[in-house]
Amino acid sequence: MDGTLFGSIIELISRLSYDETERLVLKIQNMQSNSTQGNARLISELREKKFSEGFTCPHCRGSHVVRFGKFKGRQRYRCKDCSKTFSDLTATPLARTRYPNKWIHFIDCMLQGLPLRKSAEILDVSHVTLFYWRHKLLTALRQMDIPSFKGILEADETYFLYSEKGKRGITYRKPRKRGGVAKFRGISHEQVCVLVARDHDKNTVSKVSCRGRISKKQVDKLIGSKVSESNILCSDAWRSYSIFARENGLEHYRIKSTEEHVKKGIYHIQNVNSFHKRLKDWMEHFCGVASKYLDNYLAWFKFLDAKGFEKTQANLKEMLFTACLFRVRETYKSLRLSEFRVA
Ligand SMILES: [Zn+2]
Repeated sequence: MDGTLFGSIIELISRLSYDETERLVLKIQNMQSNSTQGNARLISELREKKFSEGFTCPHCRGSHVVRFGKFKGRQRYRCKDCSKTFSDLTATPLARTRYPNKWIHFIDCMLQGLPLRKSAEILDVSHVTLFYWRHKLLTALRQMDIPSFKGILEADETYFLYSEKGKRGITYRKPRKRGGVAKFRGISHEQVCVLVARDHDKNTVSKVSCRGRISKKQVDKLIGSKVSESNILCSDAWRSYSIFARENGLEHYRIKSTEEHVKKGIYHIQNVNSFHKRLKDWMEHFCGVASKYLDNYLAWFKFLDAKGFEKTQANLKEMLFTACLFRVRETYKSLRLSEFRVA
């Protein structure tokens, strides 16, 4: 390239806004992401992560896995238990991907909160495909488990308006404008209830429970396996928590909104409530999401919140590699046809 052209390009770049410059950087990184070496390096890093977590067969979960030659330059494995073969990416969100590196850039776009159409322009992938990528990643992240809760456990619900955004052929009512306002006052069937439970080690469950008020059965289903008699539960005054606490032998403090917010100087639900606030603020970006995908967004938020929203290369990779530890069977069609489910 001659010097004057390069100079003119630099001059043009200097006229871009901050956001446009960020997008340009992503675009250039994406142009470089088709390099064979870069992709091979990423896959070998992923392989290390998988082996360190105990590499198991994606078909039968057996652990007798041996190397089984290469196919199209990629390592294959064979399971001694079920005799099936697979690659590093089989059954992961990246299965059948030609350019794994693009996923890193895609996650980068996700972390910058770019809409799918802008990400599509940067990555040269259609926004429909990216929608599918997003939910394959999140369906995997959603499967991350947490250890049992320790010590004081705060639990409280928060609500999102029920939405069928994106669904075709809604005939029984006009689709609500984005955001939208509920027709009824108070908690009704129109609201989707999300339970957030968090201990002081920041171990967190944040999941969709139902439409309307949460039942004891649903509290049990979402956090029952994570509590023991050593936990002290702090919640609002809703009766489901009292029954849950009694049945599980937990000491229980009920924080009524009309009374003092901290009992005995240490029992409160302020950590959970500030988690709710951060979650709500972050969800604003999306201008309403279909309720059937809400659990995916909750898993995404939980991951980002735990990382303090830092957009480092290490966090980008961790999100991708963690997602690749879980089996994903979603197809574009199964995602589109899925329905809202309660706990
Ligand atoms: Zn197997």
